[in-house]
Amino acid sequence: MPTTVKAYAAPSATEPLVPTTIERRDVGPHDVRIDIRYAGICHSDIHTARSEWGPTTYPIVVGHEIAGVVAEVGPEVTRFAVGDRVGVGCMVDSCGECASCRKGEEQHCLRGNTGTYASVGRDGQPTQGGYSQEIVVTEGFVLRIPDALGLDVAAPLLCAGITTYSPLRHWGAGPGTRVAVVGLGGLGHMGVQLAHALGAEVTVLSQSLKKQEEGLRLGADHYAATSDPGTFERLRGSFDLIINTVSAEIDLDAYLSLLAVDGTLVNVGAPEKPLSLAVFSLIPFRRSFAGSTIGGIAETQEMLDFCAEHGIAAQIETIRADQVNEAYERVLASDVRYRFVIDTSTLD
Ligand code: NAP
Ligand code: ZN
Repeated sequence: MPTTVKAYAAPSATEPLVPTTIERRDVGPHDVRIDIRYAGICHSDIHTARSEWGPTTYPIVVGHEIAGVVAEVGPEVTRFAVGDRVGVGCMVDSCGECASCRKGEEQHCLRGNTGTYASVGRDGQPTQGGYSQEIVVTEGFVLRIPDALGLDVAAPLLCAGITTYSPLRHWGAGPGTRVAVVGLGGLGHMGVQLAHALGAEVTVLSQSLKKQEEGLRLGADHYAATSDPGTFERLRGSFDLIINTVSAEIDLDAYLSLLAVDGTLVNVGAPEKPLSLAVFSLIPFRRSFAGSTIGGIAETQEMLDFCAEHGIAAQIETIRADQVNEAYERVLASDVRYRFVIDTSTLD
């Protein structure tokens, strides 16, 4: 029998989120039922709730930065037991058989992975995310949260952490590399901490100098305001890797001019409108423009363990569920320091 749990849902693209109830499937042989304690608010939740990436099916419960405690396990579950501290990120399933899944890159599942929300789950129902009391997930998509990390500050690692860790690792951020992180929001503040811990020289490129002190405290070596045209002159050709986390359109050509020879600008920000660039921003220095999406399950576990080992976590502002609409407005105004996390016990 499915279980009814409390949640917060967007009823349409234009209305505020409201309290509701949703059904969670019965625990199957390989499933884990998680008592959700905290759910981070990712900008992707807002893009989806407002149909900015194409039409969303309503009502929708978003949230893919989930931390909680195992409440029940199916009879075939081998890796988790009741009481374990666990997390769920942006995916809850994939085919498990294609070349990407076999490589442990479930995010690139050739048949399409099952998103934590806005996909179709094993029960044939639309998947519903973390702004809720419980979730049922097949054990292969459940992450272990190390004891050194609080569940509240670990929640945002499940998306913001892995989305920045994966490209930093893939493009070789480390000692001797110069990395710029564009946008000091949820993803950006994780990118800065992770790039610093990996040994790179880190620069924050933010719209203003308002967050400079905190950016430097998070591990940045340099901080520059992109509202100052002098920044683009001064930093021309000076980065090996730029991670763009901005949720809105930016002038890509200006940022590409900051890349050194063979440098790469990786776009993880996913704005509603297309971005354009001039090929002559890439040609002269053999520059690359790339995209990246989250990371595989094994890499996500590696990132969580890396964070625990290096004392890294999200900087959060914990809110009640009924403050979620207000939090959305603050995220949209770049007024987030640096991730809102819903205390899901306030759904009661
Ligand atoms: P966020 O917390 O809102 O951070 C975005 C930051 O971008 C803001 O804090 C702000 O930083 C900067 N910014 C916002 N509007 C801007 C503008 N008009 N011009 C220049 N800079 C601007 O969002 P987030 O949760 O980190 O997510 C960022 C983006 O990544 C979203 O589009 C999200 O959907 C996407 N995302 C992608 C993946 C993936 O797998 N690729 C995963 C998660 C999220 P400053 O104030 O410092 O300028
Ligand atoms: Zn996200």
